Amino acid sequence: MSHQTIIDLHAHSTASDGELTPTELVVKAVDNSVNILALTDHDTVSGLAEAQTAASRHNITLINGIEFSTRWDNKTIHIVGLNIDAENNTIFDATIHLNKLREERAIKIGEKLEKVGIENAYENTKIIAGDGTVTRQHFSQFLVNNGHAKSQADVFKRFLVNNKPGYVSVNWPSLDETINNITNAGGVAVIAHPLRYKMTATKLRKLISEFKDSGGKAIEVVTGNNNQNEITTMTNYAKRYDMAGSVGSDYHNANTPWAQLGKLSGLPQGLTPVWELW
Ligand code: AMP
Ligand code: MN
Ligand code: MN
Ligand code: MN
Repeated sequence: MSHQTIIDLHAHSTASDGELTPTELVVKAVDNSVNILALTDHDTVSGLAEAQTAASRHNITLINGIEFSTRWDNKTIHIVGLNIDAENNTIFDATIHLNKLREERAIKIGEKLEKVGIENAYENTKIIAGDGTVTRQHFSQFLVNNGHAKSQADVFKRFLVNNKPGYVSVNWPSLDETINNITNAGGVAVIAHPLRYKMTATKLRKLISEFKDSGGKAIEVVTGNNNQNEITTMTNYAKRYDMAGSVGSDYHNANTPWAQLGKLSGLPQGLTPVWELW
């Protein structure tokens, strides 16, 4: 038996675009020997109460989290809020607004797909999303299920992204406002998967620097799809900007293109672990 603590601070449930219910996710975390798990659904806290109940039945610590969609410099940037008060009113109001934006975007995506001959995408995608926050991931499932693409990776090359059918840009709340909301709810703001935005090094430095100025505290140094080189790059950024480091798989489902739940490298030495901030 290993006594190493396994930590995974980024995962999704059916409250957004994950495959497992909050309870099933906690059970999977236990199966994968995770000791500390954060549930971080897109723009919602609706899965947290169920996840906490499940976590208290198993020997596992559940951190209340959320993954906020934000707009910065004309790009969508994901900010994970960790250890938030799940009952905070400002966070709740923000999630209502965000889900309204998501609903409006989903309708527009449906209209755009209709123009290229793909019918009823909105209605069918809403069925897939169920009670969860509607995301492009649900549209990608619809497109794959209906033979319009061979895989989700294929969808995100041919549909739903800039200059492709079904792309709709969203005016997400600002980075600054989002960090403030997380901080005021007692949480720690973390830049999610920093290398997935495909920014130049100069842009990424600007993001980290402005994030820090607004009260952001940590960077996801180890994320699901990182290799060792990328982990080293992010470790150096975290050190340079005196940011804490976080570790998260971004687990969605068994076919996730990135890591499985808890199957991650540890946080490199010499960084402040984000979980020491709470
Ligand atoms: P949204 O927040 O609605 O724009 O949807 C973003 C979600 O789509 C991400 O959280 C992933 O779940 C999924 N996604 C984005 N890009 C990819 C990709 N290249 N492959 C698979 N899933 C992706
Ligand atoms: Mn997702
Ligand atoms: Mn994300
Ligand atoms: Mn995520």
